Amino acid sequence: MATRSAPLPKSITAIGKRPGAFESTAQGVESSPPLTKAAKELAQYPSHEVLLPIGGEIEFVTSYDIGNGIMAVPFYNIVDHSVNQNLGYSLEPVSNERMVEFIKDILANVEMLKMVPSGSALIDFFSQICTSIPPQSGDTRIEAADGRKVNSMLFLSPTHPGHAVVSGRNVRLGKSRHSALYSNASSNLTGSPSIVQFDPRIALAVDVDGDLYYSWPWEGFAHELAHAGHSASGTRTDRGVKYSLRIPEGPSEESCEYLTEGEELFTHSRPEARAYAGDQDGVDDSVSLRVNGTSIEVRLSKAEAELQSCFLERINMKSDENLRIALAVRRSIFGIGEWQITSEFGHSARPMYNAPKGATWKYTEHQILSQVQIVELMQLYPTLYHAIQAGATRVACDMHAN
Ligand SMILES: [Zn+2]
Repeated sequence: MATRSAPLPKSITAIGKRPGAFESTAQGVESSPPLTKAAKELAQYPSHEVLLPIGGEIEFVTSYDIGNGIMAVPFYNIVDHSVNQNLGYSLEPVSNERMVEFIKDILANVEMLKMVPSGSALIDFFSQICTSIPPQSGDTRIEAADGRKVNSMLFLSPTHPGHAVVSGRNVRLGKSRHSALYSNASSNLTGSPSIVQFDPRIALAVDVDGDLYYSWPWEGFAHELAHAGHSASGTRTDRGVKYSLRIPEGPSEESCEYLTEGEELFTHSRPEARAYAGDQDGVDDSVSLRVNGTSIEVRLSKAEAELQSCFLERINMKSDENLRIALAVRRSIFGIGEWQITSEFGHSARPMYNAPKGATWKYTEHQILSQVQIVELMQLYPTLYHAIQAGATRVACDMHAN
């Protein structure tokens, strides 16, 4: 669930490879055999060749528009490759069959999120941000092969478990991750597109002193979408708050215990986490927000409070109607995070992964309930809880483990 910024060269067009260099598309190549069933299914989604940072380079990759302002990219673990530039092996393409499954699973997650107000607001946000005119130029938009800008703010990559040795360290690949493509824009109200790598079937079981919590795929998805929403709004807070919250507590590198950065606290979004961030930052402002008819109370840190007042100031200027609309869209998801959405589903949110030392709402170990096939379960059971009670979700915690 870490969030990172992918480095981006200054001139993206200068080093872009020719369109089609990575083609593994539904269209296939000339004189190819008739389309497979999966290729036909994939062909239903409009596709674009877009420039994305892959393993330290900018490459044209095929990207499928799956609706809701979301693009799906048929390469595994793109964020891992973006942030660990010397992984030492090339990016692995996703087969058409697997890509069709991935898209269906993602859309099942989207449908689940739409069932609760905050989840619905988060999904709506990614649709609306595409059509609202950005307050600044298109410099921070993804470029397509034809030179046009792609307005989608969210690019999804499937995950695949694996390991790589990077700078002498063994890096585990395939965890849920978010990466803003333009680091500055993600935190200065400009807004940046993101890549999220995610397994849409992943569910976690978290045991805290005998209390068992489940984290369902759509809740993990909501967590990454909240990061992406912050980046798209330019309200990511790890830059401002990070250094005040990440305090080494041990004498050496190994024994350092780092506190959690503000961005994670706000994305997890449980009230204690927000209060913690606010107190640590020396500010404890509260705002009340209406989220799709539901009122939520949000305690802000200094960094968030500053962003909040910037938003209000700009929205209230009303000198530019388009700017006002764009900012209003961005403000619409202010304060929405994993806890809020989980609560609306009516069950206990998992405590926070790697929460600050001493917090009671913290855990460090979880089991992975492997491969929850939401599409199937939604057809067979009224809720996932029924599915669990019926033993339909099997516990297989070795799949993503070492
Ligand atoms: Zn996170």
